[in-house]
Amino acid sequence: MFTINSKLNFFSLSLKIVIQFFIIGIIIMTTATSAYANKNLMLLPEYIVFDPAKDTEVPKIYRKIAKPLSFPLSAADEKDIGLLTTKFDNETNCAGLAAPQIGISKAVIVFSVPDNDPEFKKRHPDLTDTDIMPKTIWINPKYKGVKSFGYNEDYEGCFSVKNYAGRVTRYKKISYEAYTPTGQLIKGTAAGFLARLIQHETDHLNGILWTDKVDPSKFMPLNEYRRMRQTQLEQAKTTNIKNKEEL
Ligand SMILES: [Zn+2]
Repeated sequence: MFTINSKLNFFSLSLKIVIQFFIIGIIIMTTATSAYANKNLMLLPEYIVFDPAKDTEVPKIYRKIAKPLSFPLSAADEKDIGLLTTKFDNETNCAGLAAPQIGISKAVIVFSVPDNDPEFKKRHPDLTDTDIMPKTIWINPKYKGVKSFGYNEDYEGCFSVKNYAGRVTRYKKISYEAYTPTGQLIKGTAAGFLARLIQHETDHLNGILWTDKVDPSKFMPLNEYRRMRQTQLEQAKTTNIKNKEEL
């Protein structure tokens, strides 16, 4: 026979059981989700790496002209673009990647210059509004330097080059054209950090690494470069010095 007390006890016991099931459910779901995420990360290709201190030659894929894609994209091309963008999304301090860096010799790059990331802005005190670019995937990109605007030098690092950064001369301004993943042709001009980023990534598709543009005696060990960059960042407010991501 149920008294009020026994009803209350029954209710409280039922509530406890429901809460326990709820908590166990959350634990199972969290574990399953993180296992799935780890599995996905494990499936991502590794970078093809050139080590200037040890390798006598640049890995072959970095000397190939990456294959231009045609539209509509094939399922295989879409899968490769997915791998590249997931790799990009999983990096911190990464402004751009090109498909050959993960062993895919296809003319695809992904890059971004965020405007809503305070950390990124702190590392790039000289960024202007025209540098800002949301995450962008370009197929078959090309650029031409606008020579009348001249050149500038700045440090670049790259996930393809082990342990070194280098001061690279680039066009200050470029004109570009590329296709979106849906096959729409876009054309425009870029300057500053964005122009440098597009040049660096597009060069990856044309058999060129930053190491081809710098005298090897001037390669700077990455730890030394990072120390220098840290010092520059501390002085950035007054000196307005550029600081770069890995590209
Ligand atoms: Zn690179």
